Amino acid sequence: MKYQPIIGLEVHVELKTKSKMFCGCSADYFGKAPNTHVCPVCLGLPGALPVPNKTAINWCIMIGLALNCKIPNFSKFDRKNYFYPDLPKGYQISQYDAPFAVNGYIKLSTGKKIRIRRVHMEEDTGKLIHQQDSTLIDFNRSGVPLVEIVTEPDFRDSTDVVLYLKKIQQIVRYLGVSNAEFEKGDMRMEPNISLRKSGDQKLPKYKVEIKNINSFRFVLRAITQEQIRQEEILEKGEIPHQETRGWDETKQKTVPQRSKEEAHDYRYFPEPDIPPITFSESDIASINCDIPELPEKKLQRFTSIYAIPKYDAEILIRDRKLAEYFEQAVSDGKKLSIKPKQIANTIINKKIDVTTILPAELIKTIISSSETTTINDTELEQAIKKMIHENQQAVEDYKKGKVQVIGFLLGKVKQVFPRADIQKIKTALEKELS
Ligand code: ZN
Ligand code: MN
Repeated sequence: MKYQPIIGLEVHVELKTKSKMFCGCSADYFGKAPNTHVCPVCLGLPGALPVPNKTAINWCIMIGLALNCKIPNFSKFDRKNYFYPDLPKGYQISQYDAPFAVNGYIKLSTGKKIRIRRVHMEEDTGKLIHQQDSTLIDFNRSGVPLVEIVTEPDFRDSTDVVLYLKKIQQIVRYLGVSNAEFEKGDMRMEPNISLRKSGDQKLPKYKVEIKNINSFRFVLRAITQEQIRQEEILEKGEIPHQETRGWDETKQKTVPQRSKEEAHDYRYFPEPDIPPITFSESDIASINCDIPELPEKKLQRFTSIYAIPKYDAEILIRDRKLAEYFEQAVSDGKKLSIKPKQIANTIINKKIDVTTILPAELIKTIISSSETTTINDTELEQAIKKMIHENQQAVEDYKKGKVQVIGFLLGKVKQVFPRADIQKIKTALEKELS
């Protein structure tokens, strides 16, 4: 490998608060009729004033804490000025030099540490719907709370990027602050990429940001394609332009969008309609208390306390609901001396639908299925003989060719062994009848 990729990541996560970031409109806009979740504030009408959503701010800080960030005691909102039709005010309320959370990190399953530069709060824009000869604007998404998580350029390959994204997705879902579904646009990512000669220690002087990526698959392809493009430029002895490019899925390559803007292009200044926000140590401590046990801790606890293999534990902790289901089943099964390993096996191998089968019901199935294996052959044979003796007429009918009678006979034996494996009874019964 002649060149090494240097990759940093910006991830936007939409919060699932009831109301929007700076007004009382419902933030639950997905699939709703266009422009039905709007008001003067999120339409940017003159004179409308923003009121920050406290839950959204608390959740942003919660994400920061979960990513091992420091929470400064002082924070504020700033205006990021730019013009685009989906931004009715002509600026986005965001955070510039005093974000809610800074200097965190996340550890990937490979052991690699990715530093988190900052986690800040901002508002989403409206949505443009391009038609053949016109473009429509839906402002339902305008002002929906958005958390931006920015890493240092610590990634050296795209597989780590995917591991990181999955981890962020898992954490925000555990926190219960976002559904983090790519398809619905809850989570969006913008990798920035540059290449340096292998062995170089300094960071390259340029970087290229890629937008419009909305799936794990696309992120891998976009990074790979961008690496190839930049390598070709460097091979010619040139330096790639500092720019923003978009991922074009049909062309399978990145396409230029605009030259990369610098912070000063946005003319950031403090949002005059929202006073700065200060936090006491106890404010932060109380938000910290609301953080549930996170996946990494859960994994450690599951493998040590329940003595289940790491592989099983990893599947069980993928989703918080599934993990809680498993623990409830373990506690229900304890009195009946069902081992956690057995419960884990059943959940994983039988792909139990945890939304329809209660943990207690799962335990019952485990018990009955373990009893089927202990059914005694001689007892079964005796029961069948007795049943044949008591149901002469039915047996005669069967022998005359009324094969459907077997169901009736089977039912009779099943009464004696209600939890037995039906196939086993059927085989034994047929053998006896013949
Ligand atoms: Zn509104
Ligand atoms: Mn942003």
